[in-house]
Amino acid sequence: MTHIITSLCVRDRGCIEVCPVECIVPGHPIAEWPWMYIDPDTCIDCGACIPECPFEAIFTEDEVPTAYTAKGDEYISLVGLSGHFEGTNHFGKKVILDTVRKLEAGEVLDLTVDIQPNYEFFKTGPGYSANDHDDKDAPVDKDV
Ligand code: SF4
Ligand code: SF4
Repeated sequence: MTHIITSLCVRDRGCIEVCPVECIVPGHPIAEWPWMYIDPDTCIDCGACIPECPFEAIFTEDEVPTAYTAKGDEYISLVGLSGHFEGTNHFGKKVILDTVRKLEAGEVLDLTVDIQPNYEFFKTGPGYSANDHDDKDAPVDKDV
């Protein structure tokens, strides 16, 4: 098993700080890999990342909801979406995303579709090399 970050992630980065095996990687380019990805081969399922996420985007793989009921104040961030999000991350830096949609309260989503991209990120996607394109100290979270 592994832990999975879902499309509820808006790149807060708190989870990256607490992972003891440094297996959470910020997706780049953001338009293709909008959220953070957990290397399933390295994750030790310690669970430390789950309470760190203010957006409740992280689940154990077998607990990713098939019917997530939206509260109405959250966003999903997915390839192909074109909504705009601006926020502040764990470090007080600005986050700008143009791959989002704000959810409506009561809307029900199957978040298990987000499991496969987590595997693909490390199999056929950029994997750890995405770290080379990441600048966590930049004033805005964006592609560099
Ligand atoms: S803490 Fe949550 S929102 Fe922030 S990067 Fe991690 S999964 Fe994404
Ligand atoms: S469960 Fe533990 S090892 Fe796995 S990604 Fe979260 S913090 Fe890292």
